[in-house]
Amino acid sequence: MAGFFDTKIEFLKGVGPQKAILFNKEINVFTFGDLIQYFPFRYEDRTRFNKISELPAVENTIQLKGTITHLTTQGQQRKKRLVGLFNDGSGYIELIWFQGLQWIVKKINPGSEYVVFGKLSTYMGKPVIVHPELEIFTPSHMSKLGLSPVYSLTEGLRNKYIDSKYISKCMQNLLSQSMPHIRETLPESIRRELALIPKNEAVWQIHFPPGVQELQRARYRLKFDELFYLQLRILKLKLGRAEKFEGMVIDQTNLLTEFYNKHLPFELTNAQKKVIREIFQDLKSGHQMNRLIQGDVGSGKTIVAFLSMLLAIGSGSQTSIMAPTEILAEQHYRGLKPLAGNVGLKMALLTGSTKQKDRKIIHQALENGTIDILVGTHALLEDTVQFSNLGLAVIDEQHRFGVAQRAKLWRKNEAFYPHILVMTATPIPRTLAMTVYGDLDVSKIDELPKGRKPIQTFHKYDSHRLWVFGFMRQQIELGRQVYVVYPLIEESEKLDLKHLTDGYEAICRAFPEYAISILHGKMKAADKDFEMQRFIEHKTQIMVATTVIEVGVNVPNASVMVIENAERFGLAQLHQLRGRVGRGADQSYCILMTSFKLSKEGKERIQTMVRTNDGFEIAEADLRLRGPGDMMGTRQSGIMDLLIADIARDSRILQIAREKASEILNKDPELAWPDHQMIRHQVDSAKPETLNWSKIS
Ligand code: ADP
Ligand code: MG
Repeated sequence: MAGFFDTKIEFLKGVGPQKAILFNKEINVFTFGDLIQYFPFRYEDRTRFNKISELPAVENTIQLKGTITHLTTQGQQRKKRLVGLFNDGSGYIELIWFQGLQWIVKKINPGSEYVVFGKLSTYMGKPVIVHPELEIFTPSHMSKLGLSPVYSLTEGLRNKYIDSKYISKCMQNLLSQSMPHIRETLPESIRRELALIPKNEAVWQIHFPPGVQELQRARYRLKFDELFYLQLRILKLKLGRAEKFEGMVIDQTNLLTEFYNKHLPFELTNAQKKVIREIFQDLKSGHQMNRLIQGDVGSGKTIVAFLSMLLAIGSGSQTSIMAPTEILAEQHYRGLKPLAGNVGLKMALLTGSTKQKDRKIIHQALENGTIDILVGTHALLEDTVQFSNLGLAVIDEQHRFGVAQRAKLWRKNEAFYPHILVMTATPIPRTLAMTVYGDLDVSKIDELPKGRKPIQTFHKYDSHRLWVFGFMRQQIELGRQVYVVYPLIEESEKLDLKHLTDGYEAICRAFPEYAISILHGKMKAADKDFEMQRFIEHKTQIMVATTVIEVGVNVPNASVMVIENAERFGLAQLHQLRGRVGRGADQSYCILMTSFKLSKEGKERIQTMVRTNDGFEIAEADLRLRGPGDMMGTRQSGIMDLLIADIARDSRILQIAREKASEILNKDPELAWPDHQMIRHQVDSAKPETLNWSKIS
């Protein structure tokens, strides 16, 4: 629909082709629609005129109405300045200019009534306003009193003298033409119930609010709008799938029972049992399952996945489990192999480094149905990988995979979409999970296996390295193994690798009597594998590595995690890393090393880690400190392109929007009621790029 808001910005009065290019390039504004959504990032208070006799504290901005009674030039050279004595009837204040004196002298018309705006400061002990904004007072000023918008600018705009004032003028032009074109998006009934102002009013007032209350109402309306439609689309998707997609009925428990009674290596926790029951409900329902298991590191997600696979295999289908890295895929393969062997199942491993010859054999065996469990990396998403009858696909550590990849798995079975089980150890606060994983049902393993001792975490400065080495030695002498992890990020990869190798050499010198492994992403897969294997087999005592060991690696005898430059890691990552220890019966330790120089936020991250082991508490802190845009798994999802709402800060509005959306869909799933036509229209006309991930599914 090429409408008013698709008009190119150059056609706005006061813009023109040259400024339009700047708008395009600098702030991504191409059309009227783009500009109107360029919301102010703050406001200046011009709701009233101050009185000189009642000035607020220095540093406040003030607005005055009065006349300039005297203009004098004072001082010499660098202190040369123009001083205007300003009188508003209640008293006098000096206005001072240090630059453009001649121009200003010409411009000022003593005796005329002016509106002055600026920051109150002091000069030579007296209250003054330096370089104030000055405008001749007209009656229209009274109607313009309000909060005035401040728009964010770029260097490129400033260089071309485009300032916030100019944008605000453009906005005024645009808004005065726009009102009839802004379509209402919420039915009267919802607006009345939740006391929401009309959309066009909200759009006007987000730019030019007469006062703080109006601004709040405008914000609330627009945030609600955004979150309501976000939730509506997610819920619709979920609902649509439950109805549309049949799933293979998986209801045979014989194989599971046999394994459970004879071979289960340990007693399951109640949380594990509960989640398996939830999964079984899904599998036998006849609908395709899309379920997420959230469970902190070490909570035992793997066995839950395996038992679910036994249900699927026992009911005559094949299964797969996909991990984000080769190391993890291999570890799953090695870990599951003996379990699967107990009940005579056939497994295969497929990764990027599987040889062509072996691949052929695996492809064959998958197609004729002789492989029961395929373990692999994203290599198993390739089109050449075809199953005879894939019933359940497990994805471990979801945040490394996009939604698109999940969708690819769906096509691996022609008769039915396979059931999908996603497992993540990244605890996500409820409000965020609702949105990021809104199209999945969520199960939680909220209990660790019995007998685990909570990991003890210390913060040590680099200067205490000798103490740390001493501690490592003491633990190794008790028979334990130690990880030492270094940050490695792309931007500083060379330097980071150097730190890693320097660190490795220092440790080799300090521990000549022990064998030491090194592992980083730049190594060949075979070398990585070799080093990892040596560590797993306890042939090495210390593993020096980058974050490649972050996810899922399981060496129960490793009980000490030393993290170098801990301040450079995010909370989620620190938590993941710490989760590599504390997997056996021994007391485990995590030592966070930092320099003395720590930012406030860095300090808070470290303190959070020292204070708690609870993944959910850490996730909340992470969300608070960094906002949702940086949280793992949210970046590629596209949902953070929200215009005005903020998932972290607006969780209350999100909750209300979610409830309202769900209430409406429950009553009227097709959005067919007359009162809901407006909603339906809005859902159908939404730009795909704002939510493209949901389209995939
Ligand atoms: P994660 O949830 O982090 O993937 P894993 O599935 O790797 O955790 O399990 C961590 C360790 O705990 C493994 O060694 C696993 O065998 C063990 N484990 C899992 N469940 C239990 C349980 N109920 N009792 C004892 N040990 C368990
Ligand atoms: Mg795991």
